[in-house]
Amino acid sequence: MDEIDGGPTIDLRRYHDREHLLLASYATHSCDTAGRHHYEPNHPYRGPFARDRDRILHSSAFRRLSGKMQVFTGEMGIYHRTRLTHTFEVASIARTIARALRLNEDLTEALALMHDIGHPPYGHCGEDVLDECLSQDGGFSHNRFALIIVQQLEKRYQAFDGLNLCMETLGGQDVRANKEAAAIGQSPNLEVQIVDAADSIAYDAHDVDDALQLGLLSFDELSELSIVQRAIKSAQTRHATLSLSQLRPVMVHELIDLQVSDFLRESENQLLTHEGKSSEELSDLGLRLHHSQTIAKERTELEGFLFNAVYRHERLLPVREAAANRLMVLFDKLVERPERLPLRFRQRSDSYSPRIATGEYLAGMTDVFCDRQYQQITSLAAGPLADW
Ligand code: MG
Repeated sequence: MDEIDGGPTIDLRRYHDREHLLLASYATHSCDTAGRHHYEPNHPYRGPFARDRDRILHSSAFRRLSGKMQVFTGEMGIYHRTRLTHTFEVASIARTIARALRLNEDLTEALALMHDIGHPPYGHCGEDVLDECLSQDGGFSHNRFALIIVQQLEKRYQAFDGLNLCMETLGGQDVRANKEAAAIGQSPNLEVQIVDAADSIAYDAHDVDDALQLGLLSFDELSELSIVQRAIKSAQTRHATLSLSQLRPVMVHELIDLQVSDFLRESENQLLTHEGKSSEELSDLGLRLHHSQTIAKERTELEGFLFNAVYRHERLLPVREAAANRLMVLFDKLVERPERLPLRFRQRSDSYSPRIATGEYLAGMTDVFCDRQYQQITSLAAGPLADW
């Protein structure tokens, strides 16, 4: 128990008291939540967003992230990131930023853990294939599919389908609604914005690291980029002598640190004049946190370079083409014979359509699970495929 400025007694065991004491006015406060679709009483010691974070962490879709490639496939070794390790890096960076800006760390972590949960197997190639397969049905988006997972497909509670997350957590993932809001000048809450920033800071840094380790890039090529030069300079200032093998991890840490520091400096400046305003007021003002112009420009240069030199690297193309082919064959065969879908998806095929149900079934798979179902459907074996 504690007393602040002679005010009412606060109890730091209570999450709303902790938030009242620690969070900025423009953070998303748990006590202001719009609640859940299905009413549930408050938990005695976990706030609503901490419960959401735990629900996402314990979901089967979250665990399947460990079997989904980010950029590089399992055939390329075991050093590189998967979607799961990427997600943890994003959550770690986002929490650091949230704490420094006095935003809601629980909501930030829930959003970060959920942000890639809707990704299909085989990285961005998988998303492109499903988008094309479902072009007559509005296409495929991993953000939209994440909402279907957490609202319908996860079965963990007797009383409802999905995870019954808070409106704020669902809203952060609803990219379509956020785009519509942007058209009338509104911005997403700050927790959503910093998860977006943390996502791109994480992949800019770890894709450099992975690509160097896999030999897709040379240090000399990379050293031509301004942001890499900046990171190397800062690494060499901290450590007088570094061999090339020592320089790589230190440089990658510097890449994260310099981007996070820049984002924090700029954000603190942007937020200076908004002390006292609420999260809703900042959304109505359309406030968007950003990097400094210099770092934003250097990041664009790095991302352009990664796109051409890494994501389209000739060693990745045949792997991607083969993966795309497996997904297309599975899609066509299951749409033609929806009776081969697992029971749950046959039911969804009846409620929606064979195409939609097949798209969902494929999108939830891990890379290896998808490979196995491909073997199954192209063999002589009959009967429904396995559920995930
Ligand atoms: Mg991501």
